[in-house]
Amino acid sequence: MNSDVALLLETANFAAEKHRNQRRKDPEQTPYINHPLGVARILSHEGGITNIEVLQAALLHDTVEDTETSPAELEASFGPVVARIVQEVTDDKSLSKQDRKRMQVVHAPHCSQQAKLVKLADKLYNLRDLNRCTPVGWTPERVQEYFIWACQVVKGLRGTNSALEEKLDELFRQRGAHL
Ligand code: NDP
Ligand code: ZN
Repeated sequence: MNSDVALLLETANFAAEKHRNQRRKDPEQTPYINHPLGVARILSHEGGITNIEVLQAALLHDTVEDTETSPAELEASFGPVVARIVQEVTDDKSLSKQDRKRMQVVHAPHCSQQAKLVKLADKLYNLRDLNRCTPVGWTPERVQEYFIWACQVVKGLRGTNSALEEKLDELFRQRGAHL
């Protein structure tokens, strides 16, 4: 078997174990692992990305932020490049939620191309999820605010992958979030 295939399965399995008790915020409480799998699939299927480290980082992108996973653990299991990409897309938990959102807008233009790809696919997945159904407890205004914030982050990720950026633009246009 191609060693990349085995490595990708190993990575997906690691993420599934880490997120095993987590659910998404949608009313059906979808298993959380659907999200990182979907983000990796967007990169491969819609973005044409074949780089194994980017696809691995997509599978792992929420492990440090949302589970008991350390950057050192990722580095030991998957190497420094994958660990660094995940670190780049991980919010600083010592900041308030509002500051984390602001820092994403500030940091986006300075990320590596690999991290920018993961961020584009992550935003595309989450915006599609919001269009599919509203998370429990969210008002329509909060959903709209999320689109406007995502649009500001994506502005700093431009020139990375035209297919993904065009799909994001279409979602922003439908929402009138381009203001
Ligand atoms: P977020 O607004 O950050 O929640 C969105 C995140 O949840 C996504 O980025 C995604 O992150 C994850 N997620 C899980 N399930 C779904 C889903 N079904 N659809 C879309 N995304 C999903 O939540 P916080 O609790 O962190 O809120 C912080 C900010 O929200 C505050 O700074 C405040 O500005 C704003 N807020 C606004 C309110 C309002 O009424 N206007 C009320 C409360 C907060 P991932 O990719 O990591 O899974
Ligand atoms: Zn995510």
